[in-house]
Amino acid sequence: MKRIIVTGGAGFIGSHLCARLLAEKHEILCVDNFFTGRRQNVAPLLASPGFELMRHDVTFPLYVETDEIYNLACPASPVHYQFDPVQTTKTSVHGAINMLGLAKRTRAKILQASTSEVYGDPAIHPQVESYWGNVNPIGPRACYDEGKRCAETLFFDYFRQHRTRIRVARIFNTYGPRMLPNDGRVVSNFIVQALQGHDITIYGKGDQTRSFCYVDDLVEGLIRLMDAPDAVTGPVNLGNPVESTILQLAERVITLAKSSSKIIHKPLPQDDPTRRKPDISQARETLKWEPKTALDDGLSQTIAYFRALLKA
Ligand code: NAD
Ligand code: UDP
Repeated sequence: MKRIIVTGGAGFIGSHLCARLLAEKHEILCVDNFFTGRRQNVAPLLASPGFELMRHDVTFPLYVETDEIYNLACPASPVHYQFDPVQTTKTSVHGAINMLGLAKRTRAKILQASTSEVYGDPAIHPQVESYWGNVNPIGPRACYDEGKRCAETLFFDYFRQHRTRIRVARIFNTYGPRMLPNDGRVVSNFIVQALQGHDITIYGKGDQTRSFCYVDDLVEGLIRLMDAPDAVTGPVNLGNPVESTILQLAERVITLAKSSSKIIHKPLPQDDPTRRKPDISQARETLKWEPKTALDDGLSQTIAYFRALLKA
């Protein structure tokens, strides 16, 4: 049994990670400021003696004892991370400094939830970990992209300077139950629009691509990375290498939700990446990991979740 901190543990990915780690009989401290996370995401876990929920903002220091830290705290949807961009950068940078300081003092392992956004609008395809990226440092996405890039810098400097036991996962677009209905990300937007019979809003022509990973697969990848030997620092891409255009995604959602919604087009946001697909050779080789859930299966489970949520 390990004492494990999950920052951002009341959020979408964090709540699935907490549930999985708790099922493996670990002691979980879920740390969240509830900016985009919800108490109800972890409500079923609260009765368990191994689970503790703490309201705390990671931009402030935290003094507890621990064996492992999964650092997920940071809003992930462009709508949410652009709402208070200064706080977004602070969360990534001060949050990383505080959690790395905690890891250094306790000699804990620490995993950073980094992102495919460190590649920006990528000039190489699919994206490999050795690619340094193409990020606009002053655009509306920079608070997130550059915050995450700086967090990676801090992780590797703590590793080189203090021998901190780091793991860095570059997570590609992940979806599944417990995304917020008003989250603003494409999968939740399209599903909610399809179920409510509203127009499906494609930004731009819909020929931009993303590769969508179901949350259970991602959680498995995160745990395998944490459990890997200390030599495996990453960064490691974690995502589903099956690439779809946004138009194809809209069509799959309409079909699977048996919806009569129409597709409409809205302006493409500034700096929206045109293509994104992970090269997951490293994760396959070092973690023996690859996603198992096909897009249609994952979408069907997510549609069932939102159908129940919208009826309640
Ligand atoms: P989410 O918004 O559902 O979860 C983020 C959680 O962090 C929320 O519970 C939020 O309340 C909490 N949080 C935000 N600021 C905080 C702060 N200052 N102190 C404490 N808690 C704070 O998003 P998610 O999709 O679950 O993403 C989780 C992590 O994975 C994020 O770090 C995100 O950048 C990363 N990631 C996610 C995706 C994806 O597609 N979902 C892709 C790449 C990276
Ligand atoms: N998108 C869209 N309609 C929406 C929401 C998003 O067409 O209602 C597009 C968005 O412009 C981007 C892609 O879907 O090209 C993925 O957007 P998301 O916000 O989910 O994540 P990103 O990968 O851009 O961070």
